[in-house]
Amino acid sequence: MVTIAVAGASLAGVQAAQVLRRQGFDGRLVVIGDEPHQPYDRPPLSKEYLTADEPDEERLKLRATADPAALDLDWRLGRAAVSLDLAGSTVVLDDGEAIAFDGLVVATGASPRRLPGQDPGAEAGDGSSAATLLELRTLDDARRLRAAIDGGATRIVVCGAGFIGAEVAASARQRGVDVTLIDAAPAPMDRVLDREAGMAVADLHRANGVDVRLGVKVTEVAAGEDRAGALVTLDDGAELAADVVVVGIGVVPNTAWLDGSGLTIDDGVVTDATTLAAERVVAAGDVARWPNQRFGGSLMRVEQWDNAIDMGGHAARRLLAELDGGQPEPFRPVPWFWSDQYDRKIQLAGVVGPHREIVQGTMDEGRFVQLYADDDGRFCGALCWNRPRQAIQARQLVADGGTLDAARERLG
Ligand code: FAD
Ligand code: NAP
Repeated sequence: MVTIAVAGASLAGVQAAQVLRRQGFDGRLVVIGDEPHQPYDRPPLSKEYLTADEPDEERLKLRATADPAALDLDWRLGRAAVSLDLAGSTVVLDDGEAIAFDGLVVATGASPRRLPGQDPGAEAGDGSSAATLLELRTLDDARRLRAAIDGGATRIVVCGAGFIGAEVAASARQRGVDVTLIDAAPAPMDRVLDREAGMAVADLHRANGVDVRLGVKVTEVAAGEDRAGALVTLDDGAELAADVVVVGIGVVPNTAWLDGSGLTIDDGVVTDATTLAAERVVAAGDVARWPNQRFGGSLMRVEQWDNAIDMGGHAARRLLAELDGGQPEPFRPVPWFWSDQYDRKIQLAGVVGPHREIVQGTMDEGRFVQLYADDDGRFCGALCWNRPRQAIQARQLVADGGTLDAARERLG
């Protein structure tokens, strides 16, 4: 029987498994995931899970696995893939099991970067609800943060004002906690937004009572004596005490298990334009880096929910084409993300370009549509605040290769 192994039992991996079945793959499908839980969705972990009166963990479960029997998967949960033998077409797990495969989907995602002094073995990783140095990637992380807030934490310092930092700060404020939000960059969400839009995010947080400190780096964190509180040290010499510290300073792709495998690893698993990493091996989601031909073919690694779904599905079809001799197609998505903070829904369709113009609303109002154009003046993306319909239209326009004039007319 033909066997396909999927390493990573989360969004991209489960989507790949689902699409493989939908496309008629009736062989053995082994799904390996190092977390003990049934696959779940991460976006609510920084939002509803923290703010709801009663968090509902049932609702986190990925819909695709609501009826696990329907997909007929051979699960290996709570087990990590530790090495890949490409020549022998085998993945080895941490308990020594070797899974021989005809095709492999690499979907092992990414893990939080850590700061000096952040020792999850000593604190956050031990399941203790009294932990004070936290990160947020997994359900277990979210349980710890929720428990700290429920347990009466009144001061939280959030290191990093990217997605995690901005969303955790908003959720904690909604729970009445005092929040200090720190980022090394001059504006929040600087990796994904233009500077002015980033400053609008800073204003939003300040208006909601957050102490936002920008352009200052956290150099070290330390848990307090007997786990009472924590201390954050900044590169300007300042020290901040808090009940809880949440570190959200970015992620690194989970590729250590592929070291020496022969796959090209460079800030992720590098694939060709079709998601193929090697013969009969595809990669998808946060771990994958590929040349997106829609944006000039430069290598992209997209750390977003929608991309994990699209790429997981594409990689599944690509693998079947590889096994059955079908026609490979390039993966050319228009990236899209959303971030909910307070009463704002922030959405970016496409990519940020050097030229921008607001065609509807204003940043001050907190409701606007801002268009982006690339160096050649071509429409390449739109940032929409509390304008969800326009975000969908903008994504379609970028996909259709619409002009800036067309975007102005449609979205203005
Ligand atoms: P992951 O979800 O990281 O899954 C990879 C899985 O593989 C994990 O379970 C990991 O433990 C496992 N794994 C790793 N190594 C191994 C190994 N060696 N063997 C076996 N298993 C392994 N995106 C948005 O667009 N909008 C949002 O609002 C949003 N909110 C988010 C909120 C939070 C708190 C987080 C953490 C992320 C959020 N994201 C959001 C991002 C989105 O969730 C990710 O892009 C998505 O989860 C990526 O899916 P993935 O399957 O590629 O990787
Ligand atoms: P992120 O968005 O990359 O932001 C991390 C921020 O921390 C960056 O601004 C970074 O600045 C800053 N930083 C790094 N080191 C620092 C230091 N020592 N002191 C102060 N600031 C520092 O990463 P994240 O917020 O941790 O998010 C993690 C992942 O979750 C990402 O993959 C993200 O896509 C995903 N996520 C997505 C959503 C969403 O889409 N709505 C929500 C939550 C999480 P530099 O860039 O200068 O290093």
